[in-house]
Amino acid sequence: MAEELKIGGKIISPGEVQEILLKISEFYTAQPVNIPVTVVRGLEEGPRVFLTAAIHGDELNGVEIVRTIMTELDPAKLRGTVFCTPVLNRWGFLSHSRYLPGRRDLNRYFPGDPQGNLAHRVAHKIFTEIVQHAQYGIDMHTAGVGRTNLAHIRGELDDERVRRMAKAFGTEIIMDQPAAGGTLRAAATRAGIPTIILEAGETFRFQRSMVARGVAGVRNVLADLEMIEHQVVEPRFQVIVKVSEWIRAERGGILDIRVHPGDLLYDGMEVGVVSTPFGREVTTLKSPLTGLVIGITTIPLVQPGDAICHIAKLEKTLHTVEKYCTTGTDGRRRLPLERA
Ligand SMILES: [Zn+2]
Repeated sequence: MAEELKIGGKIISPGEVQEILLKISEFYTAQPVNIPVTVVRGLEEGPRVFLTAAIHGDELNGVEIVRTIMTELDPAKLRGTVFCTPVLNRWGFLSHSRYLPGRRDLNRYFPGDPQGNLAHRVAHKIFTEIVQHAQYGIDMHTAGVGRTNLAHIRGELDDERVRRMAKAFGTEIIMDQPAAGGTLRAAATRAGIPTIILEAGETFRFQRSMVARGVAGVRNVLADLEMIEHQVVEPRFQVIVKVSEWIRAERGGILDIRVHPGDLLYDGMEVGVVSTPFGREVTTLKSPLTGLVIGITTIPLVQPGDAICHIAKLEKTLHTVEKYCTTGTDGRRRLPLERA
């Protein structure tokens, strides 16, 4: 007899796909706040994986990644179960916002608390009804509003199973960093459900190249867990980075940023120029370290302290990355990535 699997009161039997509207709260109108969960349970028992997106309601690339995977999974050919949750933060998704009502960040309230505030309760519901049924997790993000990220995986690689999933996903850059407290990634990993996040691109868009990378990565992980038949696509190279730094503006003004995600920066290299509205240069920003650009601001206006450019520090692995970089018309070295 197969183990009973029940979500939101619905039983999902082996070989079934169930579309569930999971009630996570209630609106002012007394109507239920539901989130869509598609559970694909293979005929054959095997690993159980959750895929989540739009925990930040304005980060949409993951919505399309989860949708693509969910429509191609065939329970007759799947070994194990995949929980596909393309829209975790229903409020933010409806209002084009990162946040829950009250500007609470849902991704700071996990594993949640059934007696706590709205965010705690929603997190608790998601954690107990979806996350805890799984043995592995992949949570999809983009950069926050006004920024864009190179497609990369983040996880705590001390956990051997996180390391294996992170590497299998197949991005060139893996950030091995502890997650902030209250994040889904931290709470799930601590509960024994190794979880990685994908960071890719920017808010409010379906960026085809980012979606394609995400879909390929999820397929790679499912194949590595022997859940699907799929030819794993290996990255050209892969480096694990532990240290990253944000370059911040020291002066206010209008920013002409000169770098893109995927650019290789050497210590002292120019990152951008800040000018006055009269067109006079205020300051030139230089990189204080050698590394790869993994995120930049997309807003050309800065005040002191504003984050401009996120750099993954490269030391021993610099030579590997250099080997795969090409030189652009501006003379800069960069990874030959598809631009979204
Ligand atoms: Zn996010």
